[in-house]
Amino acid sequence: MEKSLNIFVLVKQVPDQGSKAGLNPDGTIDRAKAKRMLNPFDRYALQAAIHTKKQYGGKITAISMGPPPAVEVLLETIEHGVDRCFLLSDRRLAASDTLATAYALYKTVLYAGKFDLIFCGLQTTDGDTAQVGPQLAERLDLPQISYCEWFGLDNDKILAKRIIEGGCQKVVSSLPCLVTVANSYHPLEYKSFKGAWRVQQLQRNPDNLKKIIQTIDLDVIGADPDRCGLKGSPTIVAATEKVGDLGGNCQMHEGKSPHELVKEVLASTNLNELIKA
Ligand SMILES: Cc1cc2nc3c(=O)[nH]c(=O)nc-3n(C[C@H](O)[C@H](O)[C@H](O)COP(=O)(O)OP(=O)(O)OC[C@H]3O[C@@H](n4cnc5c(N)ncnc54)[C@H](O)[C@@H]3O)c2cc1C
Repeated sequence: MEKSLNIFVLVKQVPDQGSKAGLNPDGTIDRAKAKRMLNPFDRYALQAAIHTKKQYGGKITAISMGPPPAVEVLLETIEHGVDRCFLLSDRRLAASDTLATAYALYKTVLYAGKFDLIFCGLQTTDGDTAQVGPQLAERLDLPQISYCEWFGLDNDKILAKRIIEGGCQKVVSSLPCLVTVANSYHPLEYKSFKGAWRVQQLQRNPDNLKKIIQTIDLDVIGADPDRCGLKGSPTIVAATEKVGDLGGNCQMHEGKSPHELVKEVLASTNLNELIKA
């Protein structure tokens, strides 16, 4: 690969499902109480970006949209070898649905500059819609490869293998291209010593930190506030409710042939009850 690649990766900070966050009166997740973590699906997107940099050379830019604490996940990406980051943070983004989120990220990507590849996770563990990646590709008028579990670059082409129902599909696309990375891709490697050391230095020098992780708002990226947040979100969350213990029990059936397993499950299931339920 002659040229040095500009590799972008989109990462989101999500509530740690293990932490008992609870809900706000309006039904949204009480993010202030929740422990926060890097969206587990984005770990594969990050690994794909790091792999591309190691294999083909280039620079990685990580982008996140979220409240100020989201800087924590961007620091984590630097520990893994990311070169620079943008945190889009603005109160006017609150309650953005995927349409508004994809629009705001679209403006951020344009602000961040030239790119050859954009990696996204498959979905998030909170909104869980898997819509942002494909929407962003549409807005950027880019070819998109979703559910990608393997890829290689050949000059300005990407060859990839993606998961489809009942098997996989081999595809080729020109660059630039957006890729959503499947969980069957390589798991994220350990943080690099160099990366961890760099973060330590940055945390000691806030001015440098601000240069490496640029926090920007809607005005800086020239985004229309009416297309962001609640105003820009056609999705209305009518109500959310905490679903308690759904009851029932779990029986593990292991080791037998599918035929035997089905016979066993049917024998232990009261079909009439199921049909009535
Ligand atoms: C319980 C719940 C249900 C929701 N239901 C809907 C719904 O039905 N329709 C709807 O439009 N919105 C919905 N939302 C809002 C939605 O979660 C937000 O719009 C969110 O910012 C983006 O959607 P997502 O989390 O589903 O992302 P996904 O589309 O699942 O994310 C895919 C990938 O896009 C990138 N990405 C996503 N968000 C960000 C970010 N903030 N910063 C950087 N990269 C990002 C990451 O690489 C991620 O892996 C819901 C939110 C919650 C909490």
